[in-house]
Amino acid sequence: MSKHLKSVVRAAFRKAVFERDHYCCKVCGRSGKDRQGGDGHLRYHRETECDLDSHHIQSRAEMANGGYVEENGISLCDDCHIKAEAWFASKDDESFSPEALYALIGSNRELAAKMSERLGVL
Ligand SMILES: [Zn+2]
Repeated sequence: MSKHLKSVVRAAFRKAVFERDHYCCKVCGRSGKDRQGGDGHLRYHRETECDLDSHHIQSRAEMANGGYVEENGISLCDDCHIKAEAWFASKDDESFSPEALYALIGSNRELAAKMSERLGVL
């Protein structure tokens, strides 16, 4: 995949995840905006309570083509993002495990892996 195509795929991933989640954190429900900018959130709400990231449920390294597919992404605020990243080290709070996050977006590891493989044909 060319460098240009990679940046297109990354931007498309981010937008698809935020749009699907209506620019709200999928765990705590707060309304937000893309921390990298843009006004996509205005279609859903004017007032924002937080910045959002599109979190990779399974890390880039473990997924084909970096896992930049909406089936592997979830909108999270800073607080929830920190907990989701911390899960990999502590495995403490199961509500932030990959399985729990996939369930929140109606996806699963197998589907995310399959869709990630398909990115390879680009
Ligand atoms: Zn949150």
